[in-house]
Amino acid sequence: MIQKIPFVLKLTIAEYKRLIAIRPWNGKWSDGNIQDIVTRIRGQLVSNQTCCAYCGLPFKGTRDKQIEHIAPKADYRQPQFTFTLWNLVLSCVYCNNLIVKGTKPTIQLPAHRLYKKCKFIIVHPYIHDPADFYDWIDVGDKIVIQVKNNKVEARNSIEMFGLDSEEMSELRAGISLLQKQKDQKPISGLDEASVQKTLNYPKL
Ligand SMILES: [Zn+2]
Repeated sequence: MIQKIPFVLKLTIAEYKRLIAIRPWNGKWSDGNIQDIVTRIRGQLVSNQTCCAYCGLPFKGTRDKQIEHIAPKADYRQPQFTFTLWNLVLSCVYCNNLIVKGTKPTIQLPAHRLYKKCKFIIVHPYIHDPADFYDWIDVGDKIVIQVKNNKVEARNSIEMFGLDSEEMSELRAGISLLQKQKDQKPISGLDEASVQKTLNYPKL
């Protein structure tokens, strides 16, 4: 349902050097003369992901994609990781919005100087495998998420992104049915309504 995202970002040494040269960073991506690098990063992310790193739903409509900083780049959070490639992933507009994730903390403080030595307090799309953090219960018209092995990161992610909302559980069930339909497995008349609902993503 929510998959671990394979890490694929690659830059040239010259591009890395340009990014390092503008650290420490307190501005916006658009402030630096790095638009070509941002475009390349975006291209690599887009060809790597068709679903949101947090909610696992396909990018579509109100859940279109955005480049997201897993550790927020806001000045009072972790601006030092603004250009850390492992900190960049695609999420849907909904999960990335200010009310849902915004600049909420995702790293336990004090943050380690090295990104991968930081302790992440939500399920990290590249570092953690969601299969170790979530259980999925299929109850027909809903696929419900549950915390696995009492993992606190799973609990935090479910709370932050509303992964246990009725709407998300229904969307998952609809998507699973769509997949069955694609695979030409039979679905019942009742299921068709659920599929239709998923095709017309509700407004969020
Ligand atoms: Zn999402």
